[in-house]
Amino acid sequence: MPAIAEETTQPCPECGTEIRGDSRFTVWCAACDWNVDPEEPQPDTGRLDRAERALARRHGEQLLTEILSGQDARPRRDASAVTATALALTVHGITVALAVGGVWSVVAGWGGVGMVAGLVLLALAWVLAPRVGRLPDDRPVLLRTDAPELFGLVDEVARAVGTRGVDAIAVDGSINAAVTTYGVRDRRLLVLGMPLWEVLTPEERIALLGHELAHYANGDTRNGLVVGTAVRTLSVWHHILQPLPHPTGLEVIVNALYVLPRLLIGGLLVLIVRLTSRAGMRAEYLADRLAARAASTQAAVGLMDRLLIADSLGVRLRTEVNRAALGGPRSTRQATARADELWGRLTTYATSIPEHEYERQRRAGARRGHQVDTTHPPTHLRRACLLAGRPETAAVTPQAHRTELIATELAAARTEVARRLLRGGFGD
Ligand SMILES: [Zn+2]
Ligand SMILES: [Zn+2]
Repeated sequence: MPAIAEETTQPCPECGTEIRGDSRFTVWCAACDWNVDPEEPQPDTGRLDRAERALARRHGEQLLTEILSGQDARPRRDASAVTATALALTVHGITVALAVGGVWSVVAGWGGVGMVAGLVLLALAWVLAPRVGRLPDDRPVLLRTDAPELFGLVDEVARAVGTRGVDAIAVDGSINAAVTTYGVRDRRLLVLGMPLWEVLTPEERIALLGHELAHYANGDTRNGLVVGTAVRTLSVWHHILQPLPHPTGLEVIVNALYVLPRLLIGGLLVLIVRLTSRAGMRAEYLADRLAARAASTQAAVGLMDRLLIADSLGVRLRTEVNRAALGGPRSTRQATARADELWGRLTTYATSIPEHEYERQRRAGARRGHQVDTTHPPTHLRRACLLAGRPETAAVTPQAHRTELIATELAAARTEVARRLLRGGFGD
């Protein structure tokens, strides 16, 4: 697959308009949309599926209208978010009740049967209790002293969106970025996917940081933590209530007693995930708005374009990794050179993607509409939403010398990530 454009022309089989294309990408017709989405998503499998999709679309359209009208600029928890949080707190409340009951049983039944029951309750509460996040140990993590310029930029963007910076930055091989918290003192972790960071312009990187930090500013991570830990607790319950295989006499009764609670917990899990998905979409639009304020509308739109081609970038990355793997084992220095080369090849490919491919992705996205079970609104709508809003100028602008210093600070992690990708990835 060559990295440079390979121009082709052919008439459209539907309407006859001449199509100018690039043999590396899907050939499609801009006049009649012929072949605009050759890999259409899975067909609707049933009535419920269709109903869900229709509901997601209606909610998505409502939300978009609301966001576009500008009347709801401040992040507020809508009914679905409040319900999800309330359900999550109830789940944690049950765990607390088990722990309290356990302590009471141990104390009251000291030396007797009550004590055994109490210890069982305490063990159960321990298994169900929310876990504190930890710093990842399977990918490079940078602290402030490792990358003062990068942290400085993050601080500046954080101020522009109305929050504080982060305590650690992890770098991995995803075409994505994320924010989360770790430790008991709620420290902040930013995860930067190197393949995405590499293909962004300095302005678009500020937009990416703006979007991620906005999730802290808007309280999405805090809420995500409460709900996320409750989802884990419910999954543990679901696992505990698994029916016993090959049950004997008494076990048949136990299995029968498990059926109803298990169904309830399964239903609750689905409900929470769905409620947060609705709230999550609003959070994404609001985060995009702050991203535009930090980096300018133009840069935020540029970021959306890069996200539109994320799948193509992923395919390209895998192709390059496979190609490199064919070369066989080599010395450390050769391996380092090859790792750095990977990034060069990826950015060359990204800059060579023609405008007609971006346009095709936007139209294909519009045809697919809102997908259920995703927390992000379709990228083409996020892009349209940015363009429909008031154009923002950048609060933070890149400076060439700083961009270079940041590249130097990231150099070791960049090589390390490429080497891990070439060795077979991150196991995710
Ligand atoms: Zn046509
Ligand atoms: Zn986001």
